[in-house]
Amino acid sequence: MILVNMFGGRAAEENGGKMARHINTNCVQAGYEPKNGEARVLPIYQSTTYKYESSEQMGRLFDLEEAGYFYTRLQNPTNDAVAAKIAALEGGTAAMLTSSGQAANFYAMINVCSAGDHIVSSAAIYGGTFNLINVTMKKLGIDVTFVEPDCSEAELDAAFKENTKCVFAESISNPSMVVLDFDKFVNAAHSHGVPIIVDNTFPTPVNCRPFEYGVDIVTHSTTKYMDGHATSVGGAIVEGGTFDWLAHKDKFPGMTEPDESYHGICYAQVFGNTAFINKATAQIMRDLGSIPSPNNAFLLNIGLETLFLRMERHCENAQKVAEFLQSDDRVVWVEYPGLKESKYHERAKKYMPKGTCGVVSFGVKGGREAATKFMDSLKLAAIVTHVADVRTCVLHPASTTHRQLTDSQLDECGVSPDLIRLSVGIEYIDDIIEDLKQALDQI
Ligand SMILES: *Cc1c(COP(=O)(O)O)cnc(C)c1O
Repeated sequence: MILVNMFGGRAAEENGGKMARHINTNCVQAGYEPKNGEARVLPIYQSTTYKYESSEQMGRLFDLEEAGYFYTRLQNPTNDAVAAKIAALEGGTAAMLTSSGQAANFYAMINVCSAGDHIVSSAAIYGGTFNLINVTMKKLGIDVTFVEPDCSEAELDAAFKENTKCVFAESISNPSMVVLDFDKFVNAAHSHGVPIIVDNTFPTPVNCRPFEYGVDIVTHSTTKYMDGHATSVGGAIVEGGTFDWLAHKDKFPGMTEPDESYHGICYAQVFGNTAFINKATAQIMRDLGSIPSPNNAFLLNIGLETLFLRMERHCENAQKVAEFLQSDDRVVWVEYPGLKESKYHERAKKYMPKGTCGVVSFGVKGGREAATKFMDSLKLAAIVTHVADVRTCVLHPASTTHRQLTDSQLDECGVSPDLIRLSVGIEYIDDIIEDLKQALDQI
């Protein structure tokens, strides 16, 4: 058998090892290197299938003995180049794109969990992910224990069970803006012999690189800052390459025992530090099929090219907006890790020294009713079910993204009924603040 990193393995190779170049350069150039006479810009391979000279060669592809493309549900050159870029940005060994962030988190978890298993998850996570874990995955027989992100080490430790297979958390939680205590969560996961999966959507690798803090798997909703222009729903899973599956053989048979659907291949042995992505592609994507269209991957790549520039401006603008809101007495509270008063200021400085993201959470005097009046009065900032694109936008989670949750579940996720989530865009700062001022005047 030829040992190849068939899926996504190009990431580390093309990058000449981990992070040979600065992340800003990788945003622009990583993942795609045209050869003589080839298109300078990443082409869109809008093809479901690939041609071969012999059926024998195609057979080897199906047995994962040879690298190559055979069907776009498993691999596509455009998608792969963008995945390779994201792997380079995170400093991972391999990555795959998915058609949404939901698919990325689901695939990452079910790649190591099946019926009868258990997950430890931070309670401060995106509403859609909370529902995925708390409802849909439970129906599939996967149990969960949610923990308060700021619980003690002992409380976190007590959440683990014999059948726990992974830990899940967000680096900055959407929308409650909790900055993850990486050391606490990583240590807990590893002391129980399981990987930790971190959704790094909000800070992006430009501001936070979870692998540097010991995280094993990183996920993204690329729909947000990575795409950045609100054009394409998408997701990504990135492998850190450091988790030793073979050292925990009994816990992860899917990784360490033969897969009969590929003539007995053992992912951990054959693919080593890209075993997770290879397995997720070869099994989960093959069977469930949430792939992005190459056209969406192309748009995502254009977004990634300017990610580092945009993140800088998002953070600069959000800092000014947070300071403005804090100084206005019609605002009851503001949560932005860049504020010295934030509970998460020191932690953010430790794990995200360049900045956090452009999202500011706050509450206005007068609760839910005043919040609605404020939002309806905004002119520049639009009310949308979105976050993290170039245009300033605003959302009331309790009545939209989190409306399926009960009050006590809302409380658990750190989403108060009066919470307004403001996603600060990259427009000129004075115009953004002017808009907020005139809307505050209306309440
Ligand atoms: C939006 C979001 C998701 C879900 O991603 P989709 O691309 O909308 O499926 C997951 N996690 C976080 C942190 C998000 O903000």
